Amino acid sequence: MSHNSELNSVKTNQPSALEPYNLFTTDPVLKNALRLEGASTRINDLENFGAKVGSVETFEWGHQSNRHSPELVTHDRFGKRVDEVHYHPSYHSLMKLSIESGLHCSHYGSAPGDGGYVARMAKMFMMAQVEVGHGCSISMTGAVLPALRDQPSLASIWEPRIRTNSYDYRLINPAEKSGCLLGMGLTERQGGSDLRANSSTAAPAPEEGEDCYHLTGHKWFTSAPMCDAFLVLANSPRGLSCFLVPRVLSDGTQNSISLMRLKDKLGNRSNASSEIEYNNAKGWIVGEEGRGIPTIIKMVNATRVDCTTWAAALMRQAVAQAGWHVSNRSAFGKTLVDQPLMANVVADLEVEVEAASHMIFRLAGLYERSSLGEQEANLVRIGSAVAKYWLSKRSIAVVSEALECVGGNGYVEESILPRLYREAPLNSIWEGAGNVIALDVLRALNRSPNTMESFLVEISELGNGHPEINKNIEMLKKLPSEQLKEVNARRLVELMAKLWSSALLISRGEQIVADAYISSRLSNDWGNQFGSLPANLALKDIAQRAVPGRT
Ligand SMILES: Cc1cc2nc3c(=O)[nH]c(=O)nc-3n(C[C@H](O)[C@H](O)[C@H](O)COP(=O)(O)OP(=O)(O)OC[C@H]3O[C@@H](n4cnc5c(N)ncnc54)[C@H](O)[C@@H]3O)c2cc1C
Repeated sequence: MSHNSELNSVKTNQPSALEPYNLFTTDPVLKNALRLEGASTRINDLENFGAKVGSVETFEWGHQSNRHSPELVTHDRFGKRVDEVHYHPSYHSLMKLSIESGLHCSHYGSAPGDGGYVARMAKMFMMAQVEVGHGCSISMTGAVLPALRDQPSLASIWEPRIRTNSYDYRLINPAEKSGCLLGMGLTERQGGSDLRANSSTAAPAPEEGEDCYHLTGHKWFTSAPMCDAFLVLANSPRGLSCFLVPRVLSDGTQNSISLMRLKDKLGNRSNASSEIEYNNAKGWIVGEEGRGIPTIIKMVNATRVDCTTWAAALMRQAVAQAGWHVSNRSAFGKTLVDQPLMANVVADLEVEVEAASHMIFRLAGLYERSSLGEQEANLVRIGSAVAKYWLSKRSIAVVSEALECVGGNGYVEESILPRLYREAPLNSIWEGAGNVIALDVLRALNRSPNTMESFLVEISELGNGHPEINKNIEMLKKLPSEQLKEVNARRLVELMAKLWSSALLISRGEQIVADAYISSRLSNDWGNQFGSLPANLALKDIAQRAVPGRT
């Protein structure tokens, strides 16, 4: 027997990889959350998707596409500018799977309330657990439509190019492609949160055709620069306006757009994020001139819900990995999950993830139905900001603690955890950083008090008269104006998030999970780190829920 095979036959106490596994059927919350938000008829399709996404092959695409980052090729060998980004084949495989599964646009074919958007979000949630970086262009491509429809002449050309399930990454005339991708360029060096600081200009160019402008300036961040077109903010004579800027023009020539650099990022490595310069690039106005921010915000609102879903997805995947590990590894004579303190840690993480999952699918349902009533619209306005702030922040802490549950292996690249860990802070930066989002909640509350009323109705209905919920509702009803000051914005949003989570768990979750969440997060019987739940809770049972397939 060789030395190697001797080693291989030793009982290593190393769990096998958690793959393949079905991300849908093994999730303790997903099916119920979808049923409650009107997506029951979509369950079969989602089960199939859960198996496909959880295959060994898809996980491997996730690893490879992040190990081999995209490369910028500015010039060809003859010195001619080409401005291309080359991706690893695994990235293309992920994109193909997502596009063919309609993650970018499947919801546009369905009526509000029939579960189309909710089901699409469930796919996004599963896919992001395996690889989230490629989701950036998937999300932006679908999100562009609500903004683009402000300019029907453009929407009629581009909507059919977007709403196909065909992935075509060639840099050619968009009219000749079987499917197009879209991105956005808002952020400049001077400011990303404060878009009024944009300095790019757009000069009318009627000689080029109706509604055409020449754009000049830079964008400090433009992700997925291989997209076929971007919505770009620039100053035209009537103020900041929104433009559709294609990479390749209808005559097949490349627009005057130079990719200057790719960012060397902490994570999100499969996705290219670039610095771009526009030098008299041709762009076509979208919406009313001078109303660029309200137009492009329609796109940002949609991508915001997606990136909030990614935060919840990172948490679910990290805790699934932790649950799997601690139920398949022993220390000091016991399986780790049977060690009382580990049970507390994993239960505490699981409680957080289940609350996050319920919140994100509730938000998805409300978003889908937001055109149907004022209550839904108000809740989306305020709930998407509350969820974005809260889940992005929670995912950073959850992923970090889950990584530790896996011990040294969790710190090693071959496990998925380092990638999830590096990914987590991003959701709290793009589509509105933490403070900006907290201030956005405040703005909504100050501008239309109806939003708080709608929020309290939601909490009251879901909270089923729970005394802790009622106490907080009374407190919010009499909120002193002091609490609506900027300096207190995070405190207020955090309370709202914990209340919403608690109410959702009361009406939709398991009793043991709701009890644990409320006693710790709302009644403050909790420490500063995960693993400090009160000992009288059903810790072992909750911890078991973190192990994929145990419920
Ligand atoms: C990987 C990645 C990809 C990206 N892709 C794109 C893209 O495709 N297109 C695009 O347009 N942009 C993109 N961005 C840019 C992103 O949207 C911005 O970074 C973000 O909006 C923040 O803007 P900023 O970096 O200019 O930071 P700043 O606006 O300078 O903000 C810095 C900090 O100040 C805080 N802050 C701002 N205003 C206030 C205030 N009034 N009170 C208190 N605190 C405040 C913010 O919360 C933040 O924490 C990307 C960013 C990253 C990291």
